[in-house]
Amino acid sequence: MSTLRPDLAELDLTELEAALEGHGYERFHARQIYRWIYKRGVTDPSKMTDLSRSLREHVEAEFTLSTPRIVGDDLSIDGTRKLVFELADGRRIESVFIPDTPSMTFCISTQVGCAMGCGFCLTGKMGLVRNLTAGEIAGQVRALATTTGMLDHPFNIVLMGMGEPLHNYDNTMKALRMLHAEQGLAISPRRVTLSTVGLVPGLDRLALEPLMPNLAISLHATTDEQRSALVPLNSKYPLASILDACRRFPLKKRSRITFEYVMLDQVNDTPEDARRLARLLSGIKSKVNLIPLNPAPGIPYDRPSDERVDRFAQILAERHLTVSVRKSRGRDIRAACGQLIVEGGTKKSAAQQMALLIGR
Ligand code: SAH
Ligand code: SF4
Repeated sequence: MSTLRPDLAELDLTELEAALEGHGYERFHARQIYRWIYKRGVTDPSKMTDLSRSLREHVEAEFTLSTPRIVGDDLSIDGTRKLVFELADGRRIESVFIPDTPSMTFCISTQVGCAMGCGFCLTGKMGLVRNLTAGEIAGQVRALATTTGMLDHPFNIVLMGMGEPLHNYDNTMKALRMLHAEQGLAISPRRVTLSTVGLVPGLDRLALEPLMPNLAISLHATTDEQRSALVPLNSKYPLASILDACRRFPLKKRSRITFEYVMLDQVNDTPEDARRLARLLSGIKSKVNLIPLNPAPGIPYDRPSDERVDRFAQILAERHLTVSVRKSRGRDIRAACGQLIVEGGTKKSAAQQMALLIGR
């Protein structure tokens, strides 16, 4: 049965070496195969021309190689490109290519849906459908790099698509190891940013990882009362516990933790909130990324005016915090933060989209 054949996309280099060895082949072939899959985007073993014919035939017969299939490709007027992928079981996820100069960024998903239910996030409205496998997480990067012609160019990866990466810890970290392999895409962890809503045990685990990505914490509020109303997980891991985990997080020289703050009009965007935020972050090597809400049907909040955002940013800057305001990219194609929700080919209302997702 084909389903019993190991999937090359799910194997890290060590596992592939062991698998080939188990089939009587030399381990070094694993590096050759990895190069084909990751560096050149070749997924058909018969085209891996530096392998002997017998090995190519063997790989074809004994392994599968699944790659998320592109079923949607939307280009925004600002150059942002949103890809919809269909996975082996028919589920769909989204990834975004943000071609800013000088750096290019891929925003990828770690789960289908998300269990965390943040009140301003469309993905949260889906609930968790399932975790992505390591191969599906890394596969988005492979497919994006191939489709956008970026296989030979440096790019950044942000784990800010659908899902909570620390809620799918093992698969996320395995995917990063696969992408880091020198024979793979050789992506340095410095080019990867993991964004989390603040699962404290996951943060403590991450602190011990040899391959440590940059860290972004989705804070969004400055009191527990306010945060618990926006981010349900806060009742389990309140602000103080997250900030303590950040304080003990081992940062490399010159690196800082990014604190993301989605700004909701008249909810968490007052000068008092800004002053409280500055106080909360004192003593932490941090920078703040303000994200004015990307409004969407079914999200009961509004985007604040530019004046409110600027005032907030100014208060933080006066208190010597580094602050940036995230440009909203790809809003016309629903590729912006928190707008990732899979819809059908035709335009549908939020309610229809939701029914589609839940019904699947
Ligand atoms: N689950 C992780 C990563 C995915 S969400 C996390 O929450 O950090 C990535 C970022 O998009 C988070 O900072 C999240 O708060 C933000 N986001 C979610 N919904 C948004 C919306 N409607 N407008 C703007 N940003 C949003
Ligand atoms: Fe999940 Fe992040 Fe959305 Fe919250 S903001 S529901 S953690 S994807």
